[in-house]
Amino acid sequence: MRLKFSHFLLLIVFSSYSQNQKHTNIILMIGDGMGLTQISSGMYANNNATALEEFEFVGLSKTYSSDQIVTDSAASGTAMATGYKTLNGVLGIDSQNIPQMSILEHCNAMGYYTALLATSSIVHATPASFYAKVPARSQYQDIALQLSEHNVDLFIGGGKKHFESREDGRNLLKEMKGYEFVTSLKEFEKSMSDKIGYFTYSDEPPTLTNGRSPGLESLVEISLQKISSKNSPFFMMIEGSQIDWGSHDNNLDYMLSEFQEFDRAIKKVLEFAKKDGNTLVIVTADHETGGLSLIGGNVSKGRVKGTFSTKGHSGTMVPVFSYGPHSNLFSGIYENTAIFDKMKQAVTP
Ligand SMILES: [Zn+2]
Repeated sequence: MRLKFSHFLLLIVFSSYSQNQKHTNIILMIGDGMGLTQISSGMYANNNATALEEFEFVGLSKTYSSDQIVTDSAASGTAMATGYKTLNGVLGIDSQNIPQMSILEHCNAMGYYTALLATSSIVHATPASFYAKVPARSQYQDIALQLSEHNVDLFIGGGKKHFESREDGRNLLKEMKGYEFVTSLKEFEKSMSDKIGYFTYSDEPPTLTNGRSPGLESLVEISLQKISSKNSPFFMMIEGSQIDWGSHDNNLDYMLSEFQEFDRAIKKVLEFAKKDGNTLVIVTADHETGGLSLIGGNVSKGRVKGTFSTKGHSGTMVPVFSYGPHSNLFSGIYENTAIFDKMKQAVTP
């Protein structure tokens, strides 16, 4: 059959149309242990303001795991990452013992650029739930090995020692071909590599009040500059890991400083999403920590008084804030596994 000129024109119009059909980017931000009281306290202590007030939709997520009303970060991370509830302590494997693909892996298969940022080590439960499949979250060396064999394009967090000082004698950093490992914010900024690993600390990073640096907002800002210069859609997970740890310590000031850093990172993400117009931003928590109550303080002076009711987590629902394309999907009350379903729906053309 001879191709007519008009057909040829149609073909050009159609192919340029499909190239312009952009996939939705996703930035999922998880404040570990960030219940409504952590948010309220952080907001009042910060001149009665939080970046979360600019979000378009708010929902509530049921955080219980497959075996307990009070979840841990592994089960809850797995629920949000894969859409399956599992036993506390398990990463990436459902309650029937079947390993499940995470949203990061689905996005990767669709040609997305992928990134993980955490203020804990990169092998800690929340970031690990997006790439690891292990029965116990404490298997740090196995989790590190799985990250080294994964294709997460950019990762930032502590925990370098699990890659280079190992019982099996391997140095995973040497085995991870194609990655550039940067050691400072400057090096990170300068790097032109497609695959970057940035170990901020050898072990778990310290608290912000004990000098953790660089700040999460700077890491987020530079990551977004890099990622948005690529010619592909992206999935990014950012964890404010130590909101949880401050709450476990029943230390309100520790929790507040970690929340406020996370809030500054949310602000950077929103600025980006507003300009970009094609990025879905979701901010939520894996669970509440500490059973925190806000029982006094002074709004105009930015003072808050809180009491904790446990050193562990609590079983209360946590809020989900969403902004951008498909953000309407996230209003209402739903299981934490629905966060995976909704993200999947948002990236499915
Ligand atoms: Zn915790």
